[in-house]
Amino acid sequence: MNHKYTILIIEDEKHICSFIETSLSSHDYKMIKAYTGKEGLSIITSCCPDLILLDLGLPDMDGIDIINQVREFSPVPIIVISARTQEKEKVNALDAGADDYITKPFGTSELLARIRTALRHSQNSGALAGSVHPVYQVDDLVIDFDKRLVTLAGKEVHLTQIEYKLVSLLAQNAGKVLTYDYILGHIWGPYTDGDNQILRVNMAHIRRKLEANPGEPHYIYTEIGVGYRMKESV
Ligand code: CA
Repeated sequence: MNHKYTILIIEDEKHICSFIETSLSSHDYKMIKAYTGKEGLSIITSCCPDLILLDLGLPDMDGIDIINQVREFSPVPIIVISARTQEKEKVNALDAGADDYITKPFGTSELLARIRTALRHSQNSGALAGSVHPVYQVDDLVIDFDKRLVTLAGKEVHLTQIEYKLVSLLAQNAGKVLTYDYILGHIWGPYTDGDNQILRVNMAHIRRKLEANPGEPHYIYTEIGVGYRMKESV
């Protein structure tokens, strides 16, 4: 009940570190700071933090190498801190096993929301490995995974098989950004040519069926250059 989550920040920009420290300490998280990758890795092995906030541009190491090394021995949630122009790096980080990313500059509430989501996902996957939450519900949208039934304000939504697979994959990972490659691999298998066109076309169809205004989606957000994120139920 009173267990404080320990959060490790690996970030060489001291003002970002102290901003995060201020944000988190008032929310009952325990903080550890590391200004280099080496330092961070040794803290990960010695202190086993509950979550890692990781800057990709560190003076001594590439953040992606840290993710690769950590993933060899630990599923601890990793949220990458990245600059606005680093789409390719974000995708690489997610594909290497990071759970999420947050783009500088970010605010306290966004940071806290990402942390809560990542912690909840890691707890769920530990306690209920392999099982799926039976129902997704956000506002008017309900997905019953057992019945494979999607309803919007009580009315059944007719999705094609591919569209249903896509929506349920996103819903089962709600709150988390899934990269284009991850989605393509899960829905169309490992032999897709990496072309996002088929995914974008299907997403456009889904949005016309689910969103009141497909240009300003309420349920499935586009993470430009990275992938999609479905709204999480609160
Ligand atoms: Ca940096």
